[in-house]
Amino acid sequence: MVYDAKCTHEGCKHPSIGAGVRFNAKKRTVGTYLDSIKIYEFSMKCPSCKGEFKIRTDPEKADYIFVSGIKKLYSEYYADKRKFKAQMAERVASREGMSLNDKVKAMEDGINIIQRTSLRYANVDIGQKLLKD
Ligand SMILES: [Zn+2]
Repeated sequence: MVYDAKCTHEGCKHPSIGAGVRFNAKKRTVGTYLDSIKIYEFSMKCPSCKGEFKIRTDPEKADYIFVSGIKKLYSEYYADKRKFKAQMAERVASREGMSLNDKVKAMEDGINIIQRTSLRYANVDIGQKLLKD
């Protein structure tokens, strides 16, 4: 999971899902952003109640949209990291004289950085990580 999250299916006995928990997700393309960046939707099942979660990539904000069955929990740590990476990507993309393709590439790089960051902290307790940083 990309963020700490909570299953929203009624009667779920263990709704908490930590950032970094891995899922076997079904991936499908649901559209494009700026005609070239694919928007993906991932479907997966709650480990506890087997209810379905749907999450989409949000290339515009370099983020994820929690579509159904699951709620994103606010995490200051991830929010700060995400904001920083998005700002960096935006800064690169706003350089003058860049072609649209270069801007798209810069945005994709930003998304890749965020995905790598999420994976890197996958098995780290967020509380411990905050103390170290
Ligand atoms: Zn559940």
